[in-house]
Amino acid sequence: MNGFDMDVQFIKGVGEQRAKLLNKLGIYTVYDAVHFYPRRYLDFSVFTPIAALQPGETACVKAVVGTAVSAARIRQGMTIYKTIVTDGDCTMHIVIFNSQFAAQRLIEGETFLFYGKVTYSNGSFEMANPLIEPETLPDPFRPVYPMTAGLYPKQLSNIIHNAIPLWEAASPGDLIPDAIRRHFSLCHELFAIKNIHFPKSKHDAMVARRRLIFEELFVLQCGMAQLRHTERVKTNIRVATDVLEAFYALLPFSLTGAQQRAIGDCVSDLQSGTAMNRLVQGDVGSGKTMVAAALLFLMAKSGHQSAMMAPTELLAKQHYETLCKLFGDTLSVVLLTGSLTPKEKRTVKAAIAAGDVQIIVGTHALLTEDVQFASLGLVVTDEQHRFGVHQRSTLSEKGCAPHVLVMSATPIPRTLSLIIYGDLDISVIDELPKGRQQIRTYVVDSSYHARVWAFVRQHLDKGLQAYIVCPAVEEGEGDLHAATDFSKQLAKGEFAGYRVGLLHGKLKPKDKARVMESFASGATQLLVATTVIEVGIDVPNAVLMVVENAERFGLSQLHQLRGRVGRGSEQSFCILISDAEGETAKERLAVMKQTSNGFAIADADLRLRGPGDFFGARQHGLPQMKIADLLDDMTTLKEAKAAADEIIKEDPQLQLPAHQPLNDAVQRLFARTKGAALN
Ligand code: ADP
Ligand code: MG
Repeated sequence: MNGFDMDVQFIKGVGEQRAKLLNKLGIYTVYDAVHFYPRRYLDFSVFTPIAALQPGETACVKAVVGTAVSAARIRQGMTIYKTIVTDGDCTMHIVIFNSQFAAQRLIEGETFLFYGKVTYSNGSFEMANPLIEPETLPDPFRPVYPMTAGLYPKQLSNIIHNAIPLWEAASPGDLIPDAIRRHFSLCHELFAIKNIHFPKSKHDAMVARRRLIFEELFVLQCGMAQLRHTERVKTNIRVATDVLEAFYALLPFSLTGAQQRAIGDCVSDLQSGTAMNRLVQGDVGSGKTMVAAALLFLMAKSGHQSAMMAPTELLAKQHYETLCKLFGDTLSVVLLTGSLTPKEKRTVKAAIAAGDVQIIVGTHALLTEDVQFASLGLVVTDEQHRFGVHQRSTLSEKGCAPHVLVMSATPIPRTLSLIIYGDLDISVIDELPKGRQQIRTYVVDSSYHARVWAFVRQHLDKGLQAYIVCPAVEEGEGDLHAATDFSKQLAKGEFAGYRVGLLHGKLKPKDKARVMESFASGATQLLVATTVIEVGIDVPNAVLMVVENAERFGLSQLHQLRGRVGRGSEQSFCILISDAEGETAKERLAVMKQTSNGFAIADADLRLRGPGDFFGARQHGLPQMKIADLLDDMTTLKEAKAAADEIIKEDPQLQLPAHQPLNDAVQRLFARTKGAALN
């Protein structure tokens, strides 16, 4: 057996019981034990004078026990031990609950290191249950691991200590090739493993840490680079670009610089001879559809078909209408969705197979429908974050290596783009069309409800429309506002006499379409909805977006919701209602007030919630990082990417013997991701 994958029970000091505890921490093998990194370190080498302590902070104090320890039994089974220690200038109280063992060590006149959180009460500093260590420590820089009940830090430390030689014996060698290791001044793998767990100094721990962060990101990026490399498919599908002028002539406005740049990027991909694989990222309302339209036009004029997919029928229909209006009679556009009758479907499919149709718009049902294309040259998917990677490739398989364009309004911080879409080229539309009005955003608590409703009624009376978004569909999900009940309640009460609609994800597609059409036509004045309206929908007459329990939504989600208004000439408003007390919740909602820049919002969201919550790592197949922080380690990420690209160019399959350990690591990381995605 490969020593790497040896069960933890082979480690000295691990029996069945302990193995179970280790499993709880995600440690199953020798490899896992060695790569179970500390969260942080306790530094017993830097002392704070008592006079300089700050209440609330955690500090290490070197002090002499000044009084004999007193013991007081305060109730059955609870004894408090107290003493006063001094560093020569000042004194501090030490309080220990119940641990006679700890109390007995504190002999009057001896010096110890006290590590703990400092409080200040009754005119003096105090540490309750500090870590107590002798004055001279062999390991003053000590790792802190995530723990589980029943396993002491010292035991875990011993287990890792015993696992290292087993791992070393089985290791196929340093997975970072020497040249790269030297170029980035990284330490050896063995040094890193030993010193991340048992550093002699802060410096050694940091050297180890830097190497392991690089290693993790490097392995990740090698995997992504491989994906990228294998997906670079040769293609004969090229376009005539001299027709681009004809496309511009169709537009009722001139394109923004950012739109033109994105089109330029795509056009050079389309002429390169390898299949385009590009992500166009642009904030809500930045005009991504027109970038797609330009390519659809070029493809059609060059004799190829294009498929354009949206995540919902609603959006597909909207795209279809936009394109019909834009292209008029010059191109033939069809809509292929689940609502067509079987007969209509047959007719449309026959036309596609015969090559009579140039642009096919649909939902991702286009993937499963057995549509035969006469000559599929381009696949566009809108709002990419709703599609999985494998769906992307399924459609690509339908043509002979079509070009692929994905569009996303989820502004992903660049760091994450590199990782999630690392196999795609990226164009960013970082500019909104001229003359867009600013949406005014307010954050209020529910005591403002009556005022908010009056404000909404005022606007409805002027012939304008509004959305109210709730976090839940039905009651029973805590005390959250539920769309179904809320719409009934409002229609009977505050909005009696107004036309109130209800939209949520549990409705049948047909009913959803009906509700949405009624709102788009203005027949419905007030739409109570869940986040199903989050993506794409364009009703310029809607000027108010009210969000209930706003703290329940991600910032990027709120940003998407807000993007549903502010599309016409009237002043638009977004009102976020929340009774959340927490600091983070307040800070997050404040971000919405401060900025309307989707990228800034996504960054803040990531910072305040962490990358796990931001997307749901699983949903995106993003491997869980053990030590790297995707935002903080951005510089390293870039270095790792450059190094990975270089290596994969030289040895795409990582077949060279020198790359064997690296290949193993890449397989390991991505295998784990696949496993996680199944949960
Ligand atoms: P998104 O990027 O969110 O998909 P859309 O493509 O739906 O944005 O565009 C939003 C609106 O802006 C549409 O009504 C579209 O016609 C309009 N639009 C797009 N580009 C421009 C432009 N360059 N100048 C003016 N309006 C534009
Ligand atoms: Mg769009």
